[in-house]
Amino acid sequence: MNPNSSVKVHFECDRGHAPHELCVAVNQAVPPNLRCEAGQPSGISKGGGSGCRIPDNLQELVTRELRDNMQESRRQGYVLIRD
Ligand SMILES: [Zn+2]
Repeated sequence: MNPNSSVKVHFECDRGHAPHELCVAVNQAVPPNLRCEAGQPSGISKGGGSGCRIPDNLQELVTRELRDNMQESRRQGYVLIRD
């Protein structure tokens, strides 16, 4: 069993784009409606392409958001991260 779960994340960069949809693996179980499929195409690839910088500590930010803001995230169906 893989303990990791992938979380659906909307990342708002500082360039005013529509949120980038990302799939971020965390070391905890997440509610079914916050999960994304592994290998799902993401709106951005780390370090390349669109020129938007994804925080190096994105996994940490997502983990913190899950801890502090789970109700809101569950309601939205994704975890919102702002740059
Ligand atoms: Zn962007």
